[in-house]
Amino acid sequence: MSTSLPPLPLRDVHQRPLRNLRLSVTDRCNLRCQYCMPEDEYAWLPRHDILHFEEIERLVDVFLFLGVDKVRLTGGEPLLRRDVTELVARLASRLGIRDLAMTTNGVLLRPAAPDLKRAGLHRLTVSLDTLQADRFERLSRSAEFHRVLDGLEAAAEYFPGFKIDTVAIRGVNDDEVIALLDRARALGAELRFIEYMDVGGATHWSQSQVVSRAELLGMIAAHYGAVAPVDRVDAAPADRFRLAHGQTFGIIASTTTPFCADCDRSRLTADGLWYLCLYAARGTDLRGPLRGGASADALATLIRGVWQARTDRGAETRQVVRADAPFIPLSALKRDPHLEMHTRGG
Ligand code: SAM
Ligand code: SF4
Ligand code: SF4
Repeated sequence: MSTSLPPLPLRDVHQRPLRNLRLSVTDRCNLRCQYCMPEDEYAWLPRHDILHFEEIERLVDVFLFLGVDKVRLTGGEPLLRRDVTELVARLASRLGIRDLAMTTNGVLLRPAAPDLKRAGLHRLTVSLDTLQADRFERLSRSAEFHRVLDGLEAAAEYFPGFKIDTVAIRGVNDDEVIALLDRARALGAELRFIEYMDVGGATHWSQSQVVSRAELLGMIAAHYGAVAPVDRVDAAPADRFRLAHGQTFGIIASTTTPFCADCDRSRLTADGLWYLCLYAARGTDLRGPLRGGASADALATLIRGVWQARTDRGAETRQVVRADAPFIPLSALKRDPHLEMHTRGG
């Protein structure tokens, strides 16, 4: 790239660096979690719009040039993307990536884990909301629970110290907080509770179902005793805590205590739209310029300009204007799948 080097990292209007890219490799999913995909039918991204690996690599290289050093593959379900381990290998060869991670629901993980490890994936997060088979079936409308459990074992084997993400929902799985922490400990994993967010797609969201950070800490302290905060080391969204027996866990309090002030994340959808916030109504089309022959310099100039003008603080704004109704109405989601959490990748 011949563009003169920008001062790195690139900063937005609130002085937040461009560091962290969430790369959604597919909008398809093999589960239907009630907090993410509760509807019976979905509008999907057209297949011919989905970026090829070479196109993803070209965009990632521009992002790396501009200061991104953390990349997370997500979806939909990233393991549904054919040959995703090939993409992992290609990205892992980039020197600029300090942290290459994936978030998966675990269903297809057992056979994929050794290949992901070999391909050079650094870190893995598995989403897990319950340890009860019948509850899993209701929550995700799938009978694949045993495969998720097997996937968790594979994660422990190939990615020791992996993370488990749990969306805590009142009346759904809030009675499993302790059991999930115990299972994470047995697997050598770090559990992170995520507050239920009213993002696009969460059409069944209600404030009353949000289990707050304060409630979670109360439940955990009542069971284990003292809960000590652990100092933050970077702009990671989770507040981390340590229990008396040494186990650490995290809470991502995106709903009650948003962390927008430190947010260095942006999201690229599988069809090449770039979103600066989980709550952003519009993204920047990078596929059009890419397929239209734009040079790396031109793409870098476009991305730089958009990031430098970024003002998004979606979750904070939402906290102020929140109504007890979904953020985006179903009719709008049907018109534009980019508004869905499963298209943006969380
Ligand atoms: N399918 C993969 C998975 O579930 O791990 C990756 C994509 S998923 C959209 C990424 C993360 O978003 C998951 O950990 C999921 O629990 C979280 N998520 C989805 N909808 C959410 C909501 N309404 N509130 C909080 N977290 C949500
Ligand atoms: Fe569940 Fe992830 Fe699929 Fe959403 S994308 S339905 S959170 S598995
Ligand atoms: Fe970042 Fe937007 Fe989430 Fe705030 S709401 S932390 S700005 S993605």
